[in-house]
Amino acid sequence: MLKRTPIIAANWKMYKTGTEAQEFLTHLKGKITPAVKVFIAPSFTALPVMTSQEVVIGAQNMHEADEGAFTGEISARMLKNAGAKFVILGHSERRRLFHETDAMIHQKLKKAFSAHLLPILCIGETLEEREAGKTFEVLSHQLKTALAGLPPAELIIAYEPVWAIGTGKTATPETAQEAHQFCRELLKKLWGEDFAAKTHILYGGSVTPETAHTLSKQPDIDGALVGGASLDPKKFIQIIQGFSV
Ligand code: PEP
Repeated sequence: MLKRTPIIAANWKMYKTGTEAQEFLTHLKGKITPAVKVFIAPSFTALPVMTSQEVVIGAQNMHEADEGAFTGEISARMLKNAGAKFVILGHSERRRLFHETDAMIHQKLKKAFSAHLLPILCIGETLEEREAGKTFEVLSHQLKTALAGLPPAELIIAYEPVWAIGTGKTATPETAQEAHQFCRELLKKLWGEDFAAKTHILYGGSVTPETAHTLSKQPDIDGALVGGASLDPKKFIQIIQGFSV
């Protein structure tokens, strides 16, 4: 089977102003080959100024309602108007620090589909869950609740073991592959073989230029969601190159 074109997505979290984001884009000019698709999720304020032919721009979160009295929140329509093409949903920092539940993530996913914003759905187990042998149970629960009752629609899944995010501990390629394969099998059961075969499953968790290439060799790893290392253009380009060959 033909491998899916890798996607390297940057999650910039609460780093970089619009000016810094524009400057970052100048470093990427001419460095991206068609062998890889590059996504960047900057801060909301940087979205309108990040115009690029080479990079797909998206958001890190959104509210599930169309509009309303939700101080400090942002809607799908606002994101689209600001130039976002995708949205990261269910990131572990949103789940842990902002108390997002599986039910809320399901609502957000539903909204992203109806607004035609491509969702990157993040799932992943904590260290305690892994050590208790519950990894697959957690992944299955998170995926099933997020997708419950929704008809198949294009999405990207990011497997991000919580213990690997921002810790410098990348999962081994084998550990990541095992989880990715599990997610693809589950997707097959939920939404069918064709859908599972074309869906990108990205790995996220301390990806570096050193780990990118070996991760890219795993059959079910279709790219990476990169936090820390994506803030440095040199490292980000090396990660993109690691998935290009
Ligand atoms: C992330 O925030 O999605 C992430 C994977 O971060 P890091 O690469 O820093 O572990």
